[in-house]
Amino acid sequence: MSAPDPPAESRRNLAGPNLVGMGRAALAAEMAAIGAEPFRARQLWHWIYHRGATDFAAMTTLAKGFRERLACDYELCRPAVARALVSADGTRKWLLRFADGQEAETVHIPEVDRGTLCVSSQVGCTLNCTFCHTGTQRLVRNLDAAEIVGQIMVARDALGEWPSPAEGRQLTNIVLMGMGEPLYNYDNVAAALKIMMDPEGLAVSRRKITLSTAGVVPMIARVGEELGVNLAVSLHAVNDELRDRLVPLNKKYPIAKLLDVCRTYPGSSNARRITFEYVMLKGINDSPAEAKELVRLLEGIPAKVNLIPFNPWPGAPYECSSDAAIAAFSDIVFAAGYSAPVRTPRGRDILAACGQLKSDSIRARRTATAAAPEGVAGMPVLG
Ligand code: SAH
Repeated sequence: MSAPDPPAESRRNLAGPNLVGMGRAALAAEMAAIGAEPFRARQLWHWIYHRGATDFAAMTTLAKGFRERLACDYELCRPAVARALVSADGTRKWLLRFADGQEAETVHIPEVDRGTLCVSSQVGCTLNCTFCHTGTQRLVRNLDAAEIVGQIMVARDALGEWPSPAEGRQLTNIVLMGMGEPLYNYDNVAAALKIMMDPEGLAVSRRKITLSTAGVVPMIARVGEELGVNLAVSLHAVNDELRDRLVPLNKKYPIAKLLDVCRTYPGSSNARRITFEYVMLKGINDSPAEAKELVRLLEGIPAKVNLIPFNPWPGAPYECSSDAAIAAFSDIVFAAGYSAPVRTPRGRDILAACGQLKSDSIRARRTATAAAPEGVAGMPVLG
């Protein structure tokens, strides 16, 4: 079921640097550079991230002349909504188009007591996990901080959640589980998260944010130390031979190394557990013996397990495990003392569920891309 497509015109006016996506320090430096007083930066912050202003003219606490100057010298630019879809279950998906014509998707999943926004960190993904649709997309680049934080702002626009509501929000939680590997784009992801967490702006608590990684081992401790958000790890297999096939990043960072850094993840405790995601693939990784091995591997880690029924996509080489196999797997993990909920697929009808996101980015240009940590990802930009 789809809603009518809104116009896809970009709101970019090419006036100058985009203030959306600048952190507090950068915004203060920018204002200082044009001779504005320090409190102007604070006022701007309030208008951009608390009130959601899309236009300098709306910033009525600023003098008219100053607003006009800002409008000449800066942009206030969100990603354009190229397409908006609504699932029969209420899940909404936005295909966002960025200034260079490339695209990524954002998904809002409403539940009774909360609403989660699933945010993308890259256009496409370099990891090529064999069960994930995003991995089949050829064009890949990092999103910048404005493009990441802009996803929340676009969702807030559509949900009518400005100024940032103190309570009763439809958008309460954020998961970095959309397109891309967030830890191959750490700097932009960290900058965007710091903006999202600022209490005087978008004001999403770090406890309501979860970053999911396929296991970029050298970056994981930094997530806990610098950002303090919840960690989710896409494990999906209990031996290296299988995980090498499902998550090829495993060849670089095998299971034992990955679990070692999880064991010492800063801030984790029994009250704040690391989530281990495990996609249920029929006849591949779903046996009772593998459930028992999973329990053995997780010993000593404050963990919970999230079982994800495989979400199919056109041409996918796997099938979802049977309900009985998933239930048996969950029972074994649960009996060992771990919570092991089965994730309900949401928005499958609009290809909005885990691993179904893929966009046909329209222009295959050779744009520069940021380097991944240690240059691991190589970030191919295929033309
Ligand atoms: N790159 C990050 C975040 C993106 S994927 C990561 O790997 O964690 C978010 C979750 O969806 C991951 O656990 C991923 O493995 C899972 N996933 C990917 N494709 C899927 C599919 N087709 N069905 C179910 N889950 C899938």
